[in-house]
Amino acid sequence: MGDLSLFLDEHHEMIRDMVRDFAEAEIAPVAAELDEAEAFPWANGARMAHLGLFGVPFEEEYGGAGMDLLAAAIAVEELARVDASHSIMVGAHTSLAATPIHRWGTAAQKERFLTPLASGQVLGGFGLTEPGSGSDAAAMRTVAEKSGNRWILNGQKTWITHGGVGEIFVVGALTSPERGARGITAFILTKETCDPAAAAEHGFGHSDDLVSMPGFSVGQKLRKLGWNASDTRELVFEDVEIPAENVLGEMDHGFPIFLDTLDGGRIGIAAHALGIAQGALDEAVRYTGEREQFGQKIQDFQGVRFMLAEMQVRVHAARVMTYHAARLRMEGKPHKKEASIAKLFASETAMEVTTRAVQLHGGYGYSREYPVERMMRDAKITEIGEGTSEIQKIVIARELLKEHGQV
Ligand SMILES: Cc1cc2nc3c(=O)[nH]c(=O)nc-3n(C[C@H](O)[C@H](O)[C@H](O)COP(=O)(O)OP(=O)(O)OC[C@H]3O[C@@H](n4cnc5c(N)ncnc54)[C@H](O)[C@@H]3O)c2cc1C
Repeated sequence: MGDLSLFLDEHHEMIRDMVRDFAEAEIAPVAAELDEAEAFPWANGARMAHLGLFGVPFEEEYGGAGMDLLAAAIAVEELARVDASHSIMVGAHTSLAATPIHRWGTAAQKERFLTPLASGQVLGGFGLTEPGSGSDAAAMRTVAEKSGNRWILNGQKTWITHGGVGEIFVVGALTSPERGARGITAFILTKETCDPAAAAEHGFGHSDDLVSMPGFSVGQKLRKLGWNASDTRELVFEDVEIPAENVLGEMDHGFPIFLDTLDGGRIGIAAHALGIAQGALDEAVRYTGEREQFGQKIQDFQGVRFMLAEMQVRVHAARVMTYHAARLRMEGKPHKKEASIAKLFASETAMEVTTRAVQLHGGYGYSREYPVERMMRDAKITEIGEGTSEIQKIVIARELLKEHGQV
């Protein structure tokens, strides 16, 4: 992996070892089967909750592990090295659902919602994308109208990670539609998990203390190219009554909350993409050291070594960029550009390295016998979710031009 001790302390090394051991022992044996069956990893979710992986960067008073953002990124990276459906479970939950409540919630909201999330009692999600608004998130149509001391929410979200299995959601809605992005508010919504039987069996994923809000329902699981064991659905809101105490942050101030959440989430996706790329590189090194053609290991062909070297360079650069962005955010320094750079580079690295790993496995790379085809399918979403590569370039260029006083 190379010496990155400048970035890491013994706690980071400790969490890396712990998550790596767990992923190899508990995830590697079942990852292909869960992907094939498109089955949510309930049993491993419960184990991950027990290990504290759903609250790595949050204080112990909220049931978190009391570590930092870099530790959280390393946990995601190590899970993704073995299986991306498991790592997105931790990544989306931590950076998209728990983090905005941690950063913007009142003391009462943190106690009610952050504690069950950070302790891994229930899963959380983030509802920004709608059928008609993805990259242009401010063009959302979901509306919330004031009625006494409550809000009435109507609309729809799509592509929501943990849409079915989750119980706590941070959702955006227009509260002053005439003001566009300046008229969006963030709300905390709750419902029961879609699979109470599995939650009861595994003792994970449900809290009796959370209200199931009438009118808040979910669609069928969306079928996907990758992340097949991750639960992705539509959320539907029909006259959902939300008490005023579930407004997150100030009214009409939701968009900055979502942008800040995405800055952090992009570091999470970068860590996730980095892990996928590292996993594919490990597989490529292993396979090319075993497979023989023309009377020698294919690893001994210079053309193959050059390919491995190029993969290693990209993975190393992605790791440095990701850890650097994580450090900036955890130290409270500006990090918007660095988060987008890390996300853009790491996701393109994941796509390139997994594609090359498939190539280096020849026909076996194309078969489901080896994990590299799953890694290649799982890598693609990292170039799309939490802002496509094109959106990252827009952010990076805007920040660059701002630094030069040109916008
Ligand atoms: C598996 C999965 C899980 C997801 N989980 C969540 C979640 O938990 N919560 C959530 O809110 N969302 C989630 N998403 C949604 C995801 O964030 C969006 O898909 C993404 O932001 C892109 O939006 P879109 O799909 O509407 O694409 P569009 O915005 O329609 O983009 C289509 C194409 O147009 C390009 N494009 C758009 N605007 C520009 C521009 N200005 N300049 C150049 N090119 C442009 C895009 O880059 C892209 O190539 C998830 C998506 C998937 C697939």
